[in-house]
Amino acid sequence: MNIYKKIYREIKKAKTIVIARHVGADPDALGSSLGLKQVILDNFPNKKIYVIGSPAARFRFIGDLDKLPENYDELYKNALLIVTDTPDHRRVDGVDPRRFNRSIKIDHHPFVEQMCQIEWIDDTASSASQMILEFVFKTRLQFTKEAAEKLYAGLIADTNRFLFANSTPKTFELVSKLIKTTNIDITKTYENLYKRPYKEIKFQGYLSENFIITENNVGYIKINDETLKKYNVDAAMPGNMINNFNHINEMLVWVTFTEDKELGSYRVSVRSRGPIINEVLARHGGGGHIYASGARLKTDEEMDSLIYDLDLVTKEYLEKASN
Ligand code: AMP
Repeated sequence: MNIYKKIYREIKKAKTIVIARHVGADPDALGSSLGLKQVILDNFPNKKIYVIGSPAARFRFIGDLDKLPENYDELYKNALLIVTDTPDHRRVDGVDPRRFNRSIKIDHHPFVEQMCQIEWIDDTASSASQMILEFVFKTRLQFTKEAAEKLYAGLIADTNRFLFANSTPKTFELVSKLIKTTNIDITKTYENLYKRPYKEIKFQGYLSENFIITENNVGYIKINDETLKKYNVDAAMPGNMINNFNHINEMLVWVTFTEDKELGSYRVSVRSRGPIINEVLARHGGGGHIYASGARLKTDEEMDSLIYDLDLVTKEYLEKASN
C-alpha cells in the first residue's frame, strides 16, 4: 500500500485526531497543521480534531489553535496523532508523540529519528504544507478554498515566494493545480504574510547596520533583550526576518542570536547560500535543513564557538569553489 493510502486509511478510521508541529510556530508549521485539520473537517465533518502547540500572534491569520481535553491517557490510547514539519520528539510542541498508540509523521526535514509508527519523510519537498497538498491530491479528499489558503501560506513562507532552490517542478505543479481547483486569494495571502508595522522596518534597519561580517563571509549579530525592548519587538522577530538578509554579496552564511529572557537562552537562526549548515548546527545541539537551521544556546562562548565552526565550513566551501 502506498503512503498516501496508508495515511488516508488511518485518518478515515480515527474518531479523534490530534495534530502537532514544532516549537516556535512558523507559517509552514501552522499552515500544514491547520490546513490538514481543515481538509479533514471539510471531508469528515464529524471527526474531533485538535491542533495544538503555542500560538504565534504574527501568524494568527492562519487559524486558531485548540486546547486538548484533560484526559491525556484516553487520547494516548484512542486518538490518532499526526505530527507535521517536525523531525524529532524533542521539538514537538505540546505532546510526546512516543506515548500515542497510533501516530503519523509528515515531514520535510532530513531524517533525525523515528518517533511515529507511520513516517512519511520527503526532504526534497519545499515544505510540510506542500506534502499535505500532495497527499490530498493523491487521495479522494477534496479541497476547500479555506484549507487551500492555509497550505498556500505555509508553502509560500518556506519557499520565500518560490525564491529558494526547494521550489521544484513538483512544487509548481501542485500549486498550479491548487490555484486551478480552489480559486485561492493569493493577494490576500501575501498581505497577511508580509504586511508589517513600521517599527519592524526600523528594527530591520538596526539589524542591517549591525551585522558583523567575518573574513570568510559569515555575517552574525547578537541581539540582547534591551534592544528588543527598545524597538518593541519580540524574540521571534529576528528569526522571522532572517530571510530578508539573503543575496548580500558579503554574507554567504548569516546568523541571528536573539536573547530570550524568558527561557534564559539565545535563539539562533542560520541561513546559507552554499555551505551546508545543518550538520554544524547538529554538533551544537540544534538542527534543521541544509540551508536553513537553528539552535538554542546559553552562553557567549557557545555562540562564539558556533560562529567559529560556521566560519570554518564557509572557508572550506569557498576554497573548494575556487579550485
Ligand atoms: P528558524 O531559523 O527558527 O526558522 O529555523 C530554521 C530551521 O532550523 C527549521 O527547520 C527548524 O526546524 C530548525 N531549528 C530551529 N531551531 C532548532 C533547534 N533548537 N533545534 C533543532 N532544529 C532547529
